[in-house]
Amino acid sequence: MKTWEEIATVQPIATKMLTNMIARDRLAHAYLFQGDKGTGKEVMSTLLAKSIFCQHIANGEPCHVCKDCVRITSGNHPDVHKIIPDGSSIKKEQIVHLQKEFTYTGLESNQKVYIIVDAEKMTTNAANRLLKFLEEPNRQTTAILLTENTQGLLDTIRSRCQIMALKPLNAQQIEKTLQTEGIAEANARLFAAFKPQIEDARLLHQDERFAGTRKIVVQLIEMLQAGSNELLLFIQKQWMSHFSNRDQLHEGLDLLMLWYKDVMYTHIDKEESIIFIENQEKIKKISMHCSKQDTTAILYAIMEAKKHIEQNVHPTLVMEQLTLQMQR
Ligand SMILES: [Zn+2]
Repeated sequence: MKTWEEIATVQPIATKMLTNMIARDRLAHAYLFQGDKGTGKEVMSTLLAKSIFCQHIANGEPCHVCKDCVRITSGNHPDVHKIIPDGSSIKKEQIVHLQKEFTYTGLESNQKVYIIVDAEKMTTNAANRLLKFLEEPNRQTTAILLTENTQGLLDTIRSRCQIMALKPLNAQQIEKTLQTEGIAEANARLFAAFKPQIEDARLLHQDERFAGTRKIVVQLIEMLQAGSNELLLFIQKQWMSHFSNRDQLHEGLDLLMLWYKDVMYTHIDKEESIIFIENQEKIKKISMHCSKQDTTAILYAIMEAKKHIEQNVHPTLVMEQLTLQMQR
């Protein structure tokens, strides 16, 4: 994703505001792009820098091929500086260095841009130093701060920036992005439904524990369907040994919940919303003898089980109760 037009599909409002400001030559001195991972902060900061320097803007889009654009893409533009955390934080020395660079006038123009990635990671000293820098009005400088968490930034810094709140990605956008990264549709859909942030969703792909959780949840459902009389044994042995803490137990129950939501989607003719697309046949079969009312009761029972886990009820007991309710 590298054009304004493309990023506008994910961030329509921020894109419109920025491209308007560029077109009218009304750029602010400092921007703060705030949004989750994957929402396009870095893409937009690069596009903004290119829009400032590109000599061949056409229909509001930088050309991506001129000397300025190419050097911005490769991170070698003399008037575009990017600061990233040095280890776990952005240190005062990094801001001091930036300031020194900026005391020389632009090498090829008077314009300068700096981008601070993970701005919330600035140490207090670094932030105070940056604040002084922001207070010196310099018409030719554009600061772009990127952050996932504005709470970590000084109010005084925030108040000097034009804040661009980026829209979180929805599950469909996460699913699509994961697919472009080579993750199969069925997995991409499940990961996106399970994690609201793309980075977390992406991690599920390599997470063997999660793959095991998915398997064991499907196994439980199959045993329920078959009316197996070894269900309690299964809970006590396999289930409890797979889930060793509260978060993991919630994860198992969340997956179970997604499955029965799929059963509900089948009941209300919204098959296109189904998450476990690989198991669609199985889900359809379940919906035949698990009525809409039964499904509602099961979803409610799973929510209750989650509540009990939170209240420290013994997990084996919670799961035994739940499976009994689901069997009815
Ligand atoms: Zn260009």
